[in-house]
Amino acid sequence: MVMTSRPVTPRRGLSAAELAVTRHLLVHGPATRQDLGDRLNLSYASTSRLARALVDGGMASEALEPEQAVGRPRQVLTAVPGARHVVGCKLTADTAYAVVCDMFGDVQGTARAALPRPGPEGGVPVAATVKVVAQLTARLARRVPSLDGIGVALGGVIDASSTVQEGTFLGWRDVDLATPLQERTGLPVIVTNDVTALAREQLWFGAGRTHSTFGVVTVGAGLGFGVVREGLAVDRLIDNGHLLAHSPIDAGGPPCGLGHAGCASAYLDHDDVARHAPATIPRPITFGALAEAGRAGDSRAGRLLDDAARALGHVVATMAGALQTRCVVLAGEDVAALTESPAMSEVIAERLRPGPNEVQRCALEIVTTPLTFTDWARGAAVAGIQHVLGGV
Ligand SMILES: [Zn+2]
Repeated sequence: MVMTSRPVTPRRGLSAAELAVTRHLLVHGPATRQDLGDRLNLSYASTSRLARALVDGGMASEALEPEQAVGRPRQVLTAVPGARHVVGCKLTADTAYAVVCDMFGDVQGTARAALPRPGPEGGVPVAATVKVVAQLTARLARRVPSLDGIGVALGGVIDASSTVQEGTFLGWRDVDLATPLQERTGLPVIVTNDVTALAREQLWFGAGRTHSTFGVVTVGAGLGFGVVREGLAVDRLIDNGHLLAHSPIDAGGPPCGLGHAGCASAYLDHDDVARHAPATIPRPITFGALAEAGRAGDSRAGRLLDDAARALGHVVATMAGALQTRCVVLAGEDVAALTESPAMSEVIAERLRPGPNEVQRCALEIVTTPLTFTDWARGAAVAGIQHVLGGV
């Protein structure tokens, strides 16, 4: 089935050197040939050849810098935002949230649709899900001149950027999602874990602009983790974040769903928190609701929120130490209430406090980005852009 009236003509990916130049322009903005050569360690001849190829391919434009007081005017290369457009789609248990973005990850349109209800075996029907995503893609294709690819993100374990090995929310096991979607739309498709997609988005358009290594922690229904090491997003964590999510916080604390006393999840997983939260807090529970109840005088709710913030502080400190990064991005639809509690920064300050004979000081940069489902879908789109540009 052809999904739009326009013919779909997949464009060639970029060579490694073209991708490096394009990535630099997208991440750091316009640059002169000289700057690019210096930053990417390319000869002037190579930079000129690459610049010409990118301009000819419509990926970049080049203009003379306004006259300088001294010296010759210089050629400045700028990425063309509309050179590529990609649909990003975030799947939750019951809804597909989609956006269409240009090459800078700027959202040009949004759409959403309900997913089919789970079948008798408990899983959301795959073929019907593919149809929903293809229909959203067709709708969003009308908002842009042409479409180059699709990125799909969901919570779970993804193999080879295409197969959902474990998709807990959708009830999926070993489901190849990329192939049928690719066949139906004629577009290249990448499927990623949703936190990995967010890490990829941060790599190009967020924390990655200033840090080559950083961690991402998401707080939603449960904890999620993403890792960027030396400029590369780790596509698949060895444990899907299990080791950090269940790291010990307080041996005298409440148990998590797996029976660990006082692990991080016991304080931060919504289901675990709901088991000890006052019945007056509406379910499904959120930290936003606990904060509000705490402010209204419910001391038990306030204590649960502070305990969760303290646990998150420990998780951040442990992740920073293990990953050897100064930067951790905290994201998710329910993260703001936790970072607003002073308990989190107190724990981090305490964990960083040097001993009497230690001279080395360390500071952490904690970036907080509360997320909506549109932001999650944008993460999927950025993963799609990276895939379309260079097959990464
Ligand atoms: Zn646990």
